[in-house]
Amino acid sequence: MKVTIKRHTTEPETTEVLVDYEVALEGATLLEVLTHIKTKLDPSLAFSSGCRSAVCGSCAMRANGREVLACTYHPQEGDLIEPLRNMPVIRDLVVDVEAAQQTNARARAWSSESCENVTVTPADEKANELQSDCILCGSCYSACPVFEAKPEFLGPFALTRSWRYVTDAREQEVPEKIETVQTNGIWDCTLCNECVPVCPQGIAPKQDIVMLRNKSGVMGFMDPSFASGFGGGGFDAGGFPDFGSPAF
Ligand code: SF4
Ligand code: SF4
Repeated sequence: MKVTIKRHTTEPETTEVLVDYEVALEGATLLEVLTHIKTKLDPSLAFSSGCRSAVCGSCAMRANGREVLACTYHPQEGDLIEPLRNMPVIRDLVVDVEAAQQTNARARAWSSESCENVTVTPADEKANELQSDCILCGSCYSACPVFEAKPEFLGPFALTRSWRYVTDAREQEVPEKIETVQTNGIWDCTLCNECVPVCPQGIAPKQDIVMLRNKSGVMGFMDPSFASGFGGGGFDAGGFPDFGSPAF
């Protein structure tokens, strides 16, 4: 089987080159193929991996343009293997995930300290069980066209995590969390759905963004571009659109 890997080096200067490798491994995962290449054919190949069982998220990359976990994907003849998009490439298939993961902090996607005395029922746990399964693989950021065009965008997994804490029965800072995702957040998403099929955990960030929008509407927030259509007045003190003064 032939696989082609996009190699990326920065020394002595940044270069990208496609390199073909012939590997005779029946039924192997992509991670096994990459390990074989590194140990038997080309020790200079760089890639990330950790648990080898789809738990740590560190081996996310792209096969034929689609985000996959190397430890679960089985490559086919002629596959093109590339690093994740929308993150700086450090070397070959290794990317710098720092900027993407910092979006969690910008979205205030954490549990507040002041809420430990509330009883959490099994039904409460079910409400955000799926969102809690995010393994921070970065695949949704690689697939997101808005994150590509606008690096300040909070992005899919930070917004999914925000919804996870907004729906937490113990959370005491829901208004602050909702307010935080108004800027560079839920209204910038185009609802294109690109982040959904690439998630190895079956999470649907787009759906969580829609839920955050609904919750925002109930709390008096509105899509700023929609509000500007009413005269650009933004919101009044009660959180309702300010229609401005009619012009005659
Ligand atoms: S649905 Fe929104 S968050 Fe998901 S990929 Fe599209 S723009 Fe990005
Ligand atoms: S939401 Fe899914 S695709 Fe995005 S980082 Fe989490 S596990 Fe990966």
